[in-house]
Amino acid sequence: MGFFDRLFGKNKHKDDCDCGCKEHAAKEKKPAAEKKAAVKAAPQAAPPKEFVNPLDAFPLLPGAPPGGKLKLAVYWAAGCGGCDVSLLDTNERILTIGDMADIVMWPIASDGKEKDIAAMKDKEITVSIINGAVRNTENEHMVKLLRQKSLLVVSYGTCACFGGSPALANLVPGGKDEILDYVYRQCPSMKDFQDKQKAAVLPQTSVKTNDGVITLPELYDVVKSLDQVIDIDYSIPGCPPTQESIAQLLAAVAAFAYKGEALPPKGTMVGVSNKTLCEECPRKKESRRITKIVEPHEIDVDPELCLMDQGILCLGPATVGGCGAKCTRAAQPCRGCYGPTSVVSEHGSSIFTAIASLFPVLDKDPTCGEADIIEIMSSVKDPLGYFYAFTMSKALIKRSVVEKKKGGQ
Ligand code: SF4
Ligand code: SF4
Ligand code: SF4
Repeated sequence: MGFFDRLFGKNKHKDDCDCGCKEHAAKEKKPAAEKKAAVKAAPQAAPPKEFVNPLDAFPLLPGAPPGGKLKLAVYWAAGCGGCDVSLLDTNERILTIGDMADIVMWPIASDGKEKDIAAMKDKEITVSIINGAVRNTENEHMVKLLRQKSLLVVSYGTCACFGGSPALANLVPGGKDEILDYVYRQCPSMKDFQDKQKAAVLPQTSVKTNDGVITLPELYDVVKSLDQVIDIDYSIPGCPPTQESIAQLLAAVAAFAYKGEALPPKGTMVGVSNKTLCEECPRKKESRRITKIVEPHEIDVDPELCLMDQGILCLGPATVGGCGAKCTRAAQPCRGCYGPTSVVSEHGSSIFTAIASLFPVLDKDPTCGEADIIEIMSSVKDPLGYFYAFTMSKALIKRSVVEKKKGGQ
């Protein structure tokens, strides 16, 4: 039985399957005639459901809006680029968006420059879609400029909404100096190179050349979410946002532009539900008490049972729904990219609380004492990185610090 069979829930052997694996070969085979009759009597399987692209609910745009074309800007701050690419999930509609709006800036796709944006009137851009967190001076300058020039700003993707993976840099106690030192001096691929230099080379934020001064943005010690730097109108979480979320955003903007309908209220989180991810996850919850924490690759994952019940740490209980439980359907735990529910401000501590309820301490069960719990939890590799994988910028304590002892140590 292959990996994909297990992944897609085909690990239950039927008596009449022909997989030929050892497990099945060991079972007593039914006589051929009986087997044939059983196959004949079996009801016809329902045809597979046709995949419906959520963007099909959003028709191709019918030329320019009555009030003239909108202006659209897309900016990529500190992120991996996946959010920019996810906009291409609009498929062929990306071409017709050009009917609705002029794209005044989209660094990976069109030629709008910072000076073009700076020359625009305030609020001249209808919508700026900004992905990525804010981690350097250029990010901060650009998002502030786009805010000034835009009617609406959308915080697009988990990095923009909560800091995302770039904000894991906040866990490095020495901040940017420690990061730069490791990346440019200590890591094995750079160390050899640096050892051969007369002086270690680090990126400079300003260098004089014969042609003038060349500058680079300066890194910050703390990576921030977009709303910690500018006022935002809408948020779309997701790493990256899904087609459904993009469809909702496009539908709202199109209804505003073509029919004059009111935009969603400021502060709307697009594409999220008012439930936790657990409530939309199809896995069967038995609220088993866990006694061991495992990674998905360490066990044969039951295709129907809740992952937490199987000892796999899943952030579903503390994560807001909306993605359709994409990861848990594929036998991977939720890592929390949609962020916390509206009633929770601290994603990481919320998941700690959920996990605490899974230990059998309240059952007068003598098999799980404090030492056992410490042992179980110690098996979580990088707990801060796990529980705040996407939301470090929004944590109450936003960065690691090294406590100085008396005497300056
Ligand atoms: S949210 Fe995810 S996909 Fe988007 S920029 Fe951040 S890491 Fe990349
Ligand atoms: S803990 Fe994870 S696997 Fe279990 S029901 Fe919730 S989302 Fe699904
Ligand atoms: S299951 Fe969790 S990590 Fe996966 S897409 Fe949904 S919210 Fe994000």
